[in-house]
Amino acid sequence: MIKLTVFGNPIAHSQSPFIHHAFAKQMDLVVEYRKCLVPLGTLSNALTQFFQHSDGKGCNITVPFKEDAFSLVDRLDDTALHAKAVNTIKRNDDGQLIGYNTDGAGLVMDLKRLGHAISGQRILLLGAGGAARGALTPLLQHQPQQLYIHNRTYVKAEQLASEFSHPQLSAVSDDALNDLEVDIIINATSASISGAELPIPASVFRGCQLAYDMMYAEAPTPFMVQAKNSGAYNQADGLGMLVAQAAYAFEIWTGKMPSTENVILDLRAALATS
Ligand code: NDP
Repeated sequence: MIKLTVFGNPIAHSQSPFIHHAFAKQMDLVVEYRKCLVPLGTLSNALTQFFQHSDGKGCNITVPFKEDAFSLVDRLDDTALHAKAVNTIKRNDDGQLIGYNTDGAGLVMDLKRLGHAISGQRILLLGAGGAARGALTPLLQHQPQQLYIHNRTYVKAEQLASEFSHPQLSAVSDDALNDLEVDIIINATSASISGAELPIPASVFRGCQLAYDMMYAEAPTPFMVQAKNSGAYNQADGLGMLVAQAAYAFEIWTGKMPSTENVILDLRAALATS
């Protein structure tokens, strides 16, 4: 039995048990994956308990604990170092906790699944929070022609661009958005959660091949609706990213990489009937 869990607050909505039990079935492994509500400020205790008093192999970390987890593990993989956040922890045989971040790789896998290459493309990344930061290195590793970051609070986009300091990466201001032409727009803001449209010009969506919202829902998200109404050719939500980041975590724990396609379809169907 491989014992896994996800720590977060809130956690009731988490689809991770559904996804990981589907992976386990696919791989013929016996996995128990639970969700655990952690009171704010107590992640350290929760990790100690899980890894001391169970034969826990690993866990996922979700909102709002990814930055906390970064400072609670014994070692950090490069993915976590770049993202400055941990969404996956594995306990090694020597008892050490290793922190990873699979969110950015999950995003890249999903863009490919949707048939959109990153190499040579002009990409606009909206947002400068944890999800945007985690996406930067995996996107840049796939050599876009240009990666622009825009954020409501411009100075945070500027800080990210200067911290990552890459020739293909630049921050764009509100004014510069008016003249921007891009192939892919990725929404890494949390605006869709509140149902808000993003205050960005419609012109930026025209000619855009894909408008991708990291958030997912049973219906098209407000960002997807905004993108469609403004002229983007295709829109997608982040359900595929969720399943893909989980697949990478599953591989870290078990050494086996599951296939995501059917799990995405099953999860989409389950969301529609929930
Ligand atoms: P953070 O809280 O770290 O960052 C939120 C970002 O959204 C900030 O850049 C903030 O701007 C911006 N923002 C919030 N509200 C608005 C608004 N009304 N208009 C414009 N910008 C706004 O969140 P995360 O980075 O952790 O998550 C971002 C999104 O990504 C969430 O929807 C989350 O669910 C999703 N996500 C999906 C994953 C998946 O697997 N599908 C994985 C990880 C995240 P400012 O700096 O100005 O405050």
